[in-house]
Amino acid sequence: MKNDNCIFCKIANGEIPSRTVYEDDSFRVILDNGPATKGHALVLPKDHYADLFEIPEDVAAAAIVTAKKAAALLKEKLHADGLNIVQNNGEAAGQTVPHFHIHIIPRYVDDGQLIGWKPGSPSAEELDGVLDEIRG
Ligand code: 5GP
Ligand code: ZN
Repeated sequence: MKNDNCIFCKIANGEIPSRTVYEDDSFRVILDNGPATKGHALVLPKDHYADLFEIPEDVAAAAIVTAKKAAALLKEKLHADGLNIVQNNGEAAGQTVPHFHIHIIPRYVDDGQLIGWKPGSPSAEELDGVLDEIRG
């Protein structure tokens, strides 16, 4: 299903042109137009799912396989030294386009890019408390 108000639906289905590095019946992989690094690409399902919580398991599985293929292609062709996979869900997590997508970000030694988080330093009791909360 497509969403008429979704820009990634239009891009994924070819209604809006994009710099496509890979395409099959279910996915389009495009260059991000605000790239973190050279070759930063996005895996877009052609059907609309807002995020990881909406996407069916079989489509999610196919999406990560597609990301793996695209990652290998980018790494080889652009001679990347490493690569980050990023997938944001919800505004609080930095998602700006509510159509599920996987970021593929080639990394280069000394590329100066920042992709990460500030590590916390919880006590053992605090970690145990989190585990209890999760496991109920
Ligand atoms: P998010 O923050 O939702 O995880 O990532 C959205 C990404 O989509 C951003 O990296 C942004 O640069 C990219 N983006 C947003 N609109 C467009 C567009 O129209 N074309 C392309 N190629 N990338 C886009
Ligand atoms: Zn969409």
